[in-house]
Amino acid sequence: MLYDIAVIGAGASGLMAASRFQDKKICVIDKNSTIGAKIKISGGSKCNITNKYLSSDNYDGDKEFIQETFKKFDNKNLLNFLNKNGVYPKIDEKIVKGTYFCRSSMEPINMFKKLNSKTKFYLDNEVLDVENIDDIFIIKTSKNTIKSKKLFVASGGLSYKSLGATDIGFKIAEKFGHSITRLDPALVGFTVQKDQFWFKELSGLSVDVRIKVEDKKCEGKMLFTHKGCSGPAILTTSLHWKKGQISINFLPNKDSYLPKRFRQIVNKLNIDLKDYKFAPAGNFGYTKAEVTRGGISTKQLNKNFESKYQSGLFFIGEVVDITGQLGGYNFQWAFSSGYCIYN
Ligand SMILES: Cc1cc2nc3c(=O)[nH]c(=O)nc-3n(C[C@H](O)[C@H](O)[C@H](O)COP(=O)(O)OP(=O)(O)OC[C@H]3O[C@@H](n4cnc5c(N)ncnc54)[C@H](O)[C@@H]3O)c2cc1C
Repeated sequence: MLYDIAVIGAGASGLMAASRFQDKKICVIDKNSTIGAKIKISGGSKCNITNKYLSSDNYDGDKEFIQETFKKFDNKNLLNFLNKNGVYPKIDEKIVKGTYFCRSSMEPINMFKKLNSKTKFYLDNEVLDVENIDDIFIIKTSKNTIKSKKLFVASGGLSYKSLGATDIGFKIAEKFGHSITRLDPALVGFTVQKDQFWFKELSGLSVDVRIKVEDKKCEGKMLFTHKGCSGPAILTTSLHWKKGQISINFLPNKDSYLPKRFRQIVNKLNIDLKDYKFAPAGNFGYTKAEVTRGGISTKQLNKNFESKYQSGLFFIGEVVDITGQLGGYNFQWAFSSGYCIYN
């Protein structure tokens, strides 16, 4: 069987893209035995699907490329699309401003099952290699050889191997002449150096902070852990931090509350509560990172996500060098790119 389109990845971007081409002979290939593995566990199983305050400022990557995509399909378009298909996310701002959550993350997964009723799924199939011979893509998986006229690579980043992540998207890109920007775990906690070992004594405690990193400010909760620090403010900071110092303001608001245990330790150590500077040792790595920063350079993609080097080859979602902050921005990017592909 020769497919019109083969999609690698049954995640957010691949499912959205496949749902748009039900009039074609289309298949989706995934290493996992079920679809939407990351959607399922995201947002405490309620999937933080988008954010009210969407803008290209919420992303690390090519602003113009992001804006062009959101002009075609932004947060309002996504919410309309979901509503039209029976999913009604609601705002819940307990952790991050403007976040929309579903009642259950199974809602979008079930929606995509319905929208992909014509899609042939090859699950439990790990893609190992792709070739293009006479304008046909030959996709070798652990179980099959699949042929298609077009190939959508929606294989995500390197985070959470346990949910199917592999480097196949980057390998395919390189094989067809693309460059990959530096890849790093992002939206992830920091490990610390000796001077911050006092964080461990506060493991489990969280406080409100405002963090300065490069020219960015990240606000929210910081959680002390036995390995260093985490929590929403730190996860967002990790998106912008490459190396060097960050500065934490532990008194971001007039009515900032500092727990007794925290006060005792910082008093003893004489910590500057408004401008505590330190350089993280590193981060918790891809096993804990929600996303991968970096990816396939947008400079080598057309506005419809097609490769400038190989016609019929497209890259969408997290595999592209565009990474969102915490708060629904990464699913929005995955869905927007999946919706706009080939348009
Ligand atoms: C724990 C966790 C929670 C998150 N929560 C949120 C959230 O609430 N809101 C938000 O916006 N973002 C969240 N994210 C980030 C978000 O899940 C991703 O940015 C998004 O899923 C990326 O979509 P994608 O389609 O590009 O890739 P993915 O969803 O990662 O899908 C890629 C698919 O490709 C498959 N694949 C990879 N390699 C191969 C191969 N060689 N052969 C076959 N198949 C392959 C994988 O199995 C996977 O199913 C979270 C991430 C994690 C890890």
